[in-house]
Amino acid sequence: MPDALLKVENLKKYYPIRSGVFRRVNNYVKAVDGVSFEIKAGENFGLVGESACGKTTLGRTVLNLHEPTAGRVTFNGNVLFDVEAKQEMDQKSIQSMRKDMQIIFQDPFASLDPRWNVGRIISEGLIQHKILEGKAAWARAEELLELCGLDKSNALKFPHEFSGGQRQRIGIARSIAVNPKFIVGDEPIAALDVSIQAQILKLLQKLIHELNLTFLFISHDLNVVRYFCDRIGVMYLGNLVEVATSDQLFENTMHPYSKALLAAIPGKGDPKKRIILKGDVPSPAAPPPGCKFHTRCASAMPICSKAAPEFKDQGGGHMVACHLYD
Ligand code: SF4
Repeated sequence: MPDALLKVENLKKYYPIRSGVFRRVNNYVKAVDGVSFEIKAGENFGLVGESACGKTTLGRTVLNLHEPTAGRVTFNGNVLFDVEAKQEMDQKSIQSMRKDMQIIFQDPFASLDPRWNVGRIISEGLIQHKILEGKAAWARAEELLELCGLDKSNALKFPHEFSGGQRQRIGIARSIAVNPKFIVGDEPIAALDVSIQAQILKLLQKLIHELNLTFLFISHDLNVVRYFCDRIGVMYLGNLVEVATSDQLFENTMHPYSKALLAAIPGKGDPKKRIILKGDVPSPAAPPPGCKFHTRCASAMPICSKAAPEFKDQGGGHMVACHLYD
């Protein structure tokens, strides 16, 4: 088995902006703008950044739920897609890959079909992928409910009969039903009450350990990601600006944007020395030239507005894109 379960190379996802009578494309929203990283088998990789930085689009494009604009993604040694080489999997391999790669959505209210009972929601994947059918699929759905902390009698109920935390448990049961190798958690606790978030995180940790899962955890909350992940990637305006182990990132933060995110965590560091980010995130349709962060960076130098910094290993796999370390 390859060392990296998931390998993402120069991935881009642009959305066209159309205008005029003929709806011509006159610009693009560069939601993901050339992102490369790897996730090893059994690793939990966190992806953080402010809203609209492209992290959710990245997670979904990796799974091919959004059509990629450019780049290549390899999963378990097989090319999922390679836009430049015009290479895509055949339908049969895509089906098998879909089974191995699942997603937990942010909104447990919107992600469950209100017309289906919970047993049917959870067993759908088992039937679709021809793993189990009939009573056996139903019995497995009941087992999965119990594994996720809900009584099996809930299989007959409908989504509206549950609280937000319970619905997220159902969403998690659905995502693990087909024995995936890899799960994208797209802000899986962001829509929940604070009191419930810790319970769901504990459940996810238990399942990751017991089922030997590899996880991409997307979040805007660095504290949560630290608690949960082995390595963390920090995203800004469609690019990764820093990738490091959780310890490296918290003990030796290098990129000025990561420093600002960390400083914003309540109770961390001296409030008087807190780095306050200037201005709003620029539009991904008109990103600043050079380093995209230069319009908000307190350490910006003349070169920063002219040339984009390279994403370089600063030692021990600690990757940073910043001219301060050239
Ligand atoms: Fe700041 Fe320049 Fe580094 Fe960008 S390259 S983060 S503007 S110092």
